[in-house]
Amino acid sequence: MRSYGARKRILVTGGAGFLGSHLCERLLADGHDVLCVDNFFTGTKKNIEHLLGNPNFELMRHDVTFPLYVEVDEIYNLACPASPVHYQYDPVQTTKTSVHGAINMLGLAKRVKAKILQASTSEVYGDPEVHPQTESYWGHVNPIGIRSCYDEGKRCAETLFFDYHRQHGLRIKVARIFNTYGPRMHPNDGRVVSNFIVQALNGEAITVFGEGNQTRSFCYVDDLIESFVRLMATPDEFTGPVNVGNPGEFTILELARKVIELTGSKSKIEFRPLPSDDPMQRKPDIALAKSALQWAPKVPLEAGLARTIEYFRNPACAV
Ligand code: NAD
Ligand code: UDP
Ligand code: UDP
Repeated sequence: MRSYGARKRILVTGGAGFLGSHLCERLLADGHDVLCVDNFFTGTKKNIEHLLGNPNFELMRHDVTFPLYVEVDEIYNLACPASPVHYQYDPVQTTKTSVHGAINMLGLAKRVKAKILQASTSEVYGDPEVHPQTESYWGHVNPIGIRSCYDEGKRCAETLFFDYHRQHGLRIKVARIFNTYGPRMHPNDGRVVSNFIVQALNGEAITVFGEGNQTRSFCYVDDLIESFVRLMATPDEFTGPVNVGNPGEFTILELARKVIELTGSKSKIEFRPLPSDDPMQRKPDIALAKSALQWAPKVPLEAGLARTIEYFRNPACAV
């Protein structure tokens, strides 16, 4: 099916995941037809069950490491486990998902002449020696460590996107996403925001890895989804890569204290060993996103954390 007026048929891979489910919601609200493809490795039907009755929404169980023949106008390629716990569970499959998944989605985009957006990551910068990170920085990545299946998989996917662009003239968009949080994060995915909130709500110890002086920048999911939609709508000459994230920088210890304060929890902070290859600092330079997308995040950390805490207070979100 081809576009009819402003309405498009849009494929979201990884659409039953955290970011994917919010993106599907947004695209439906904008009046598009959405095809959500997911193998439910980390995503769940619960994330999108409220969309199933919408006639413009279609769900397909499929693994993107296998070819996919559908007719669409735009593709958002999000399929890939995103948290260290999940992507290290089956690291070979993680690389396959990033690399074979990218090849298949690019092959599909080439055949149907669709525009395609890649959900890349700040992990392409590795443990960065340049701070804050700009898109021109090539990164400091260990090719053989426990994070490499994800980092190098995502780097190779970026290479494939740019080679399909140069070699086949594909219209590509590459977003380098920095830590994003919000409702529908997987409660057991080990990511710092969901871990701390779940621990605080259960009155368990808050597990800070290392001394907690490593930094991250946390973007609320609604802000991130807005950047995706804006990036897809940029002129064809604009390919990215473009950093999307919130430049507010916090230490992990600061985050732990904020979560304790906002939940009113009596949990104590406990220090645990720092995992290997854990980046010391991370903060996006978003000058390019500001100028090319006219975008900047709007939701402050306290407000975003409060909404996320509300979500995790609901027992129905537990898996
Ligand atoms: P998520 O784990 O909630 O979502 C990923 C989705 O992809 C899940 O629904 C999962 O079932 C699906 N999936 C995994 N392998 C698949 C395969 N082979 N075939 C089909 N579906 C598959 O994670 P998320 O946070 O929503 O991340 C979405 C994308 O954004 C990922 O590509 C991730 O690398 C990227 N990203 C996220 C963040 C973040 O902070 N959330 C940061 C950087 C990059
Ligand atoms: N592919 C797909 N859907 C399509 C077209 C292609 O999944 O609609 C897959 C196909 O299996 C192929 C990959 O995308 O392995 C790359 O396609 P491309 O045309 O670039 O390469 P080739 O088919 O020549 O290997
Ligand atoms: N972290 C932590 N306690 C936890 C989970 C994570 O101190 O229970 C730390 C982790 O070591 C890292 C930071 O929080 O320094 C962010 O971790 P996450 O896995 O969320 O994301 P990433 O390392 O990919 O940025």
